[in-house]
Amino acid sequence: MENNKSLIVANWKMNKTIATTKGFVNDFLTLVDKEQSLSDVVICPPLTMYQYIAKLPFKFGAQDCSSLSSNEGSFTGDISALMLKDIGYEYVIIGHSERRKNYGENKDLLKSKISNAHANGLIAIFCIGENLEQRENGSYFEVLSKQLDESLPASVNPENTIVAYEPIWAIGTGKSANEKQIEEIHTFIASRIKNKVLYGGSVNSKNAKEILATNNVSGLLIGGASLDAQEFNKIINIRG
Ligand code: PEP
Repeated sequence: MENNKSLIVANWKMNKTIATTKGFVNDFLTLVDKEQSLSDVVICPPLTMYQYIAKLPFKFGAQDCSSLSSNEGSFTGDISALMLKDIGYEYVIIGHSERRKNYGENKDLLKSKISNAHANGLIAIFCIGENLEQRENGSYFEVLSKQLDESLPASVNPENTIVAYEPIWAIGTGKSANEKQIEEIHTFIASRIKNKVLYGGSVNSKNAKEILATNNVSGLLIGGASLDAQEFNKIINIRG
């Protein structure tokens, strides 16, 4: 990103049909004015919904990509980074805790996905985060360090990778990390790598301002609150 605006990434997960996506787009078009948006915005819809949302004046990302080394071939169900780039995506979320948990995505697989993103000119949004037990027993620095060390490939640079700190206990729970906790972790990550670091976990239009104003927070990764056009529009127009 070429400026100092916050980066706001919407992760729609497995939500929305054609009808509800069109509803979001119509609602949004009555609210949004690209020139006025105070943030750089990336929307990561389900792949099937991209064609219905592509007219919004934002950038787009996928929620995952193939870990395989081939860009095309006999790999049922896989979508390669090349294919994502081909339809106009610029970003891809990799390593979200839901994929780590539901599909057992491990460090090597995630490293391959990030490498594939880089090789095809996509910006990887790499998610890391500790669970509640690790938060409570104080091992979270170690956990986060390991996640960074084990999955970031040599190709990482500040332009091609964004880190998203998403404490698992804060995702979809309505209980965001507090500013002290966020600042501690973001400062820690910033001391290790020069990349942008987003915060994610129960962000909404009420808590976004304070989080955006926290040291070393470059932007936000937003799940639930990104599904509603009015709520999301409020967030992208908050000045951190
Ligand atoms: C997420 O899953 O990336 C996320 C941040 O979700 P939510 O905003 O709903 O907590």
